[in-house]
Amino acid sequence: MIIAIDGPAGSGKSTIADILAERFGFTKLDTGAMYRTVAFTCADRGIDLDDETAVEHLAGKLDIAFAGDSCPLRVFADGRDVTREIRTPQTDRIVSKVAAYPGVRSALLGCQRSFAEGRDVVAEGRDIGTVVFPHADLKIFLTADPRERARRRVLQRHPEGTGGVDIDREVEQTLADLLRRDEIDSHRATAPLKPAADAVHIDSTAHTIDQIVDKIVALADA
Ligand code: C5P
Repeated sequence: MIIAIDGPAGSGKSTIADILAERFGFTKLDTGAMYRTVAFTCADRGIDLDDETAVEHLAGKLDIAFAGDSCPLRVFADGRDVTREIRTPQTDRIVSKVAAYPGVRSALLGCQRSFAEGRDVVAEGRDIGTVVFPHADLKIFLTADPRERARRRVLQRHPEGTGGVDIDREVEQTLADLLRRDEIDSHRATAPLKPAADAVHIDSTAHTIDQIVDKIVALADA
């Protein structure tokens, strides 16, 4: 069985996919982590991000692996643990550029499909229901109000609490970054962010994580 969860940055896809994977005993496929790994590795190796051919060449050769027994899994690029590096604001800022290159997308598409062979998977990303697994058993398109998405992102960044942090300023900055990324992801020529025709739309703005998980579990059991 394949459950596809697509949606813009900060809509709650990752948290919800983790819980669903654990609940159903499925493997989670975090396709955003794969694009992030390509983007970070390019920057780290000094590859010019405007050089589409060089970026695509790296994406075709890079060995991206997931490891661990609990979500979120650790992520490795050619054997190096990059779990932390791929989640920095610097990687946030470059990932959509790299993800818009068709050759990068086709290289990762092959990896994503082979990852799911012979397993039950909860896959999350931007084009899961439209391109990666168009025959997924259940497709969810998760959205939320942009300011709420930015607020959640900021709170996630401060698991120890937000004392002493200028939250409003950080939310404004994060909101600008999220909107910029949504804009690029939604308007690129190849596999833009959009709901599959048969996706169930869920707006998570006014709901708790548990409420959304319950709704998806009911849809999966139906
Ligand atoms: O989901 P996450 O925020 O980690 O994704 C990072 C970026 O990777 C997205 O903004 C998008 O540019 C790209 N992405 C994509 N297709 C996917 C998953 C992520 O283009 N299926």
